[in-house]
Amino acid sequence: MKSKKNILIIQKIHEDGIKLIKNNPNFQIEITDDLSIENLKAKIKNVDAVSIRTAKLSGDIIENAKNLKVISRHGVGYDNIDLNKAKEKEIKITITADSNAVTVAEHVMFVLLNLAKRKNLYDKTVRGGNFKDRNKLPKTIEIWKKNFLIIGFGRIGKALIKRCLGFEMNIFVYDPFIEASKIEELGGKKIENLSESVKMMDVISLHVPLTDKTENLINYDLMKLMKKNCIIINAARGGIINEKDLDKALNESLIFGAALDVFKKEPPDENNPLLKNEKVYLSPHTAAFTEECMIRMSKETVQNIIDFFDKKLDNSKIIKL
Ligand code: NAD
Repeated sequence: MKSKKNILIIQKIHEDGIKLIKNNPNFQIEITDDLSIENLKAKIKNVDAVSIRTAKLSGDIIENAKNLKVISRHGVGYDNIDLNKAKEKEIKITITADSNAVTVAEHVMFVLLNLAKRKNLYDKTVRGGNFKDRNKLPKTIEIWKKNFLIIGFGRIGKALIKRCLGFEMNIFVYDPFIEASKIEELGGKKIENLSESVKMMDVISLHVPLTDKTENLINYDLMKLMKKNCIIINAARGGIINEKDLDKALNESLIFGAALDVFKKEPPDENNPLLKNEKVYLSPHTAAFTEECMIRMSKETVQNIIDFFDKKLDNSKIIKL
């Protein structure tokens, strides 16, 4: 490598990732937690690489970069980056593809069981001194032999199917880009028609990117077709479920419950009705926040930058723009 490369880390990452590069003579790093457009525009100006978590990297900010060659996402979704601007400036985008699939899949199993077993309500009952009223509580449900639809069969969908099969669930997959044989090999059945299939599902979990095609994919009309005991889980991106429609469907008992890790606006507005809806389990975009995963992602986001400049980066980690 000829000259020292400057790396900007936007939003603090785990120390283990920083350690990878701290004493490397080929790189110089700066970390910023100030996400204002003015600060990012100034800091990005002369850097060669950026590592970014979920903060927005708008076209305006990217435009100001003079030497930027690579944006390394700490994570796998990249809807927070202006892709057209990155493409126009021939900047590559990389993801931490090896780090978080199992972590998110574990989160899905956790929220599913949490809702099915009405964890919050039962826990509150005992703490509130109402143990003796347990027979009056609404019943919990089993997940054994239930129909589970995975929408999006990429890294997370594939990690999830293994866990669902462990619970002896029947797995269906909706992903027009994956061949039926690949899904069958892993123990699932391919679904061609989404609106027809939702009628028989007990659980629906979303694992697609947020795109023009997936925005509002789960809306009131689709929820009207679902079983009354259906649980919907969104640990992909806010906006894939229409939040107003979800609140309405829950209030009308069209479905049993939902779990949201992600929101159309993050953090959600105080008056977002889902914050008060007890049929929803909420988490603050933390499905991948285990200690182990944070370490893996911090190392991978930094290693991707090192590998990029060493021309050793695996193509599967570079987004096709
Ligand atoms: P991936 O790219 O490996 O898989 C996405 C899958 O979705 C692909 O198989 C693709 O064919 C499929 N797909 C695309 N458009 C579709 C459509 N219109 N209908 C059906 N299927 C479609 O991604 P991944 O690593 O499995 O992650 C999935 C999503 O989860 C990411 O895009 C990201 O937004 C989100 N995510 C969230 C968290 C979190 O913290 N909550 C963590 C990691 C990933």
